[in-house]
Amino acid sequence: MKILVLPGDGIGPEITAATLTVLDRANALFKLELQWQHEEIGLPALKKEGTTLPARVLEAARSSEGVILGPLSTYEYPPRDRGGINPSAEFRTQLDLYANIRPAKSRLGVGLTGKPVDLVIYRENTEGFYADRNMYSGSGRIARRAFEAAMSRRRKVTAIHKANVFRISDGLWLREVRKVAQDFPRVQLEEVIVDAMAALLLRDPMRFDVIVAENMYGDILSDEASELSGGLGLGGSINAGDEYCVAQAQHGSAPDIAGKDRANPTSLILSAAMLLEWIAARRGKSALAAAAKKIDDAVDATLKNPATRTADLGGKIGTREFAEAVTAKLG
Ligand code: NAD
Repeated sequence: MKILVLPGDGIGPEITAATLTVLDRANALFKLELQWQHEEIGLPALKKEGTTLPARVLEAARSSEGVILGPLSTYEYPPRDRGGINPSAEFRTQLDLYANIRPAKSRLGVGLTGKPVDLVIYRENTEGFYADRNMYSGSGRIARRAFEAAMSRRRKVTAIHKANVFRISDGLWLREVRKVAQDFPRVQLEEVIVDAMAALLLRDPMRFDVIVAENMYGDILSDEASELSGGLGLGGSINAGDEYCVAQAQHGSAPDIAGKDRANPTSLILSAAMLLEWIAARRGKSALAAAAKKIDDAVDATLKNPATRTADLGGKIGTREFAEAVTAKLG
C-alpha cells in the first residue's frame, strides 16, 4: 500500500521524519506492508520547479492509499499566478475531502484549565462561509459523518451556528443538520451559537462530545479545543472524503522553531494513526486498526511521563528523541 509523504515547510520535515520513525516500527511489527513515496511541495518545490504544488504530486495523491502532509508556510507563498498554490486547500477541493476530523483529548492527565477534555470536531472542509465556497443547497455530508461517529461515542452532537445573524447561510446549515438528525433518533442534538461556544468550551469542556461545525467556526474552535486539551501540538487531524484521506497536523509550520529539533511531532503522529484507522475501515484490515490503537496508546504513555515531553509542554527532549520514545513504547 503506497502512502504519499509530503514534508512541507518550516517544522514539516522534522515532524514528518519523526512520524515516519514511529510508522516504520508499526509497519514492521504489524506487517502492514506500507510503502512511502516521497515528494517535495511548498517552498522547496517553488524554488526548484516554480510551483508549490507540482501537478504530478496531485496525481500521486490520487493513486495513493493515503497522504501524510506536513504543515505549509502558506502565508509566505506568492500569488497563484507566480506559483503559490495552497496544497492543503487544493487537496481538499480536488480530492473532495469534505470532512476535517479533529479530536481533542487531554493526554497529560488534565487540560489547560485543570478540566479533562475528550471531544472530536467534525469540520466541514469544502463548503461553508468562505467566499469561494458559497452554495444554495446543502449536502448534509459532514452532519452524517458526525452523527455516525456519535453512535460509538457518548451519543451527543453539538451543532455550531450563528443563524441569529446569518439567517440564510447558517439557516441552511441548521436545516441540513436537523434533517440528518432525524435518521439518528438515539443521538441527542444540541445547537449552540458560535460565540457562546467559545466560552462554554472553556467553562465545561466535558459537556461536549461530537461537535459539528462549518469550515471557519470549526477551524477556530478546534485550535481552542486543542489548546485546552494541553497544547496546539497535540491534536491529530485528518481530511477525509469517501475516496481519499490526507493526514495533516492541526497546527501550522511554526517557522519560529523550524530546524531547531524543538517541534512537538505528536499532532502529525496522531494524524497518521487516524489515517491508518481510516484505511482500516475502508479496506477491512484489522491490523491497520490495531497499529493505530497501539500508536495512540504509545503517544499517551510517552506524554504522561514529564521526562519524555518536548519544550512546548515544559519538557526537555527534542523532536527526534520524542519519536524514539514513542517508538520504544510500541515494543
Ligand atoms: P503555527 O501553528 O505555525 O504556530 C503558532 C505557535 O504555536 C508558534 O509559536 C509555534 O512555534 C507553536 N507551534 C505550532 N506547532 C507546534 C509544534 N508542533 N510544536 C511546538 N510548537 C508548535 O501558526 P502561525 O504562526 O499562525 O502560522 C505559521 C505558518 O503556518 C503561516 O505561514 C500559516 O499560513 C501556516 N499555517 C499552515 C497550516 C497548515 O498547513 N495546515 C495551518 C495553520 C497555519
